[in-house]
Amino acid sequence: MALVNKIIPFSCIDGPGNRTAIFFQGCNFKCTYCHNPETINKCINCKKCVLVCPVKALEIKDEKVIWNEDKCVQCDNCIRECSHLSTPKTKDFSVDELFNQIKEISPFIQGITVSGGECTLNADFLIELFKKVKNELGLTCFVDTNGGIDLSEYKELVDITDKFMLDVKSIDEDEHIKVTGTSNDIVLKNLKYLLDNNKLYEVRTVIAPNLDNEKTVLEVSKIIKDKCKYKFNAYRKYGVRKEGIDLHGEVGPSEEEINNLKSLQKGCI
Ligand code: SF4
Ligand code: SF4
Repeated sequence: MALVNKIIPFSCIDGPGNRTAIFFQGCNFKCTYCHNPETINKCINCKKCVLVCPVKALEIKDEKVIWNEDKCVQCDNCIRECSHLSTPKTKDFSVDELFNQIKEISPFIQGITVSGGECTLNADFLIELFKKVKNELGLTCFVDTNGGIDLSEYKELVDITDKFMLDVKSIDEDEHIKVTGTSNDIVLKNLKYLLDNNKLYEVRTVIAPNLDNEKTVLEVSKIIKDKCKYKFNAYRKYGVRKEGIDLHGEVGPSEEEINNLKSLQKGCI
């Protein structure tokens, strides 16, 4: 079983073509600029959010908070109430249950992309899901990852995945720790490992104020050269928690700043 935060049946921004994007709950990073911070932790059933639901879509059964999707009006009061960077609006899926949902949409999509949270924390689940999706539906399977687990130790997952999309939040280790709470040593190891194995579709960096974006863009460009796309995501404050706004501010980078950084991506696609 795996805990899923959200399924977007049709997405054109999560890899090539029209794809179903599946967002898993739980992450091993705690990024300051995360705009879905409620995906970071799994619910600990503290029950605080139950009281703020205006339509009684949250119930307590056997000491667990149960979400009734049919009653929910998506007001997000529960997410705002949660001080644990979590949400009660998740669902446990077996591989077969998730596969059956994908199968229903399969005539209209080119593939699936798993994301998060951090989807690779469910590596065994993904391997079983990808086997079925590829063998029975003939769709491509992409992984969108923060690169926080050593993928060279998950060869079966790497082999069965068509392509990865990897975040490199910062090339500087201290800055990476400041932004994510974690060292970037495994991320950079994964960057080289996935490039060497021709498994990278795209590398992404969030361009946020008060970070050495130039250094990251320059150094990452040198590593990836023309072997895969290098995409920038401009920081926006929407959804970001207070500590993130305190660090990065109210305003994201200007178009001029982004264009200046693009000029440093020499040789990249
Ligand atoms: S988002 Fe849904 S579950 Fe959460 S408080 Fe609003 S109605 Fe209730
Ligand atoms: S979602 Fe948050 S507030 Fe609600 S029960 Fe879980 S941990 Fe508590």
